[in-house]
Amino acid sequence: MLGHHGLAGRSLAVLVLALGVLFGAAAAHAREDGVEVRKSRLALLPASMVERSSAQQYVQLMRGAAQNGALNTDRRELERLRGIARALIPHSRRFNPDAERWRWEVNLVRSPQVNAFCMPGGKIAFFTGILDTLQLTDAEVAAVMGHEIAHALLEHGRARMTEQVLKSAGITVAAMMLNLGQLSTELLATAANVALSLPFSRRHETDADLVGIELAARAGYDPRAAVSVWQKMQRLGAQTGRGQPPQFISTHPSHESRIREIEANLPKVLNLYAVAQKGLDSAAGVR
Ligand SMILES: [Zn+2]
Repeated sequence: MLGHHGLAGRSLAVLVLALGVLFGAAAAHAREDGVEVRKSRLALLPASMVERSSAQQYVQLMRGAAQNGALNTDRRELERLRGIARALIPHSRRFNPDAERWRWEVNLVRSPQVNAFCMPGGKIAFFTGILDTLQLTDAEVAAVMGHEIAHALLEHGRARMTEQVLKSAGITVAAMMLNLGQLSTELLATAANVALSLPFSRRHETDADLVGIELAARAGYDPRAAVSVWQKMQRLGAQTGRGQPPQFISTHPSHESRIREIEANLPKVLNLYAVAQKGLDSAAGVR
């Protein structure tokens, strides 16, 4: 009997301990910093196929720029962009484990276009127009790049490409061709191109904003720069109101509550920024 009681006592102790660990873990999880978003679910096209045709489109775009003598002409700006990308990229697998095997690229195209993008698979391009017109600081570049990388990580481009293929081929035909491995290269190339010029949905924009500020914060860039970037964009949009809106705004439509939503989510990432900064300071020997 005594032994039995002892056993029961031990079981109870184990149970209490287990519950404690469970609740402790749950509490720790709830306290953890960071934003919460989900990857896009419209994904008829396999990621590998989307990445392959995006990479081909990217090569063509960069080749075109090179032929015009407009590719990576400003070495200093290019190195700045690549340095910021090197800081952001290690944090991307948190949002999409596939990002680990992506062949990331960063190039700078000399063009007055106020634009930047990251195609599926990590193919990043900035236009000199966005750097010059908005006079972007490093933290602001990190905000724009983080936002663009987020679209790729959350597979928004893949969703848009899928939509394009469905639109041009129809769902039954597209599924059939996909099954038979007969989706043509041209169809995919067109879809990749059109996807690049279509506006993102509001949901996608907000999600990219949130993941973007977390990437920037974890990389040690002040995530509050996302707010100043959008303020600059809005001022530019108002100035050019009667003419063509900047490319970036036409593909990333701004909504009134965007800045408010970013600001509301900043507290979730400011601590990550403080931690990252501390790490950077001690790495640089600063106390
Ligand atoms: Zn966007």
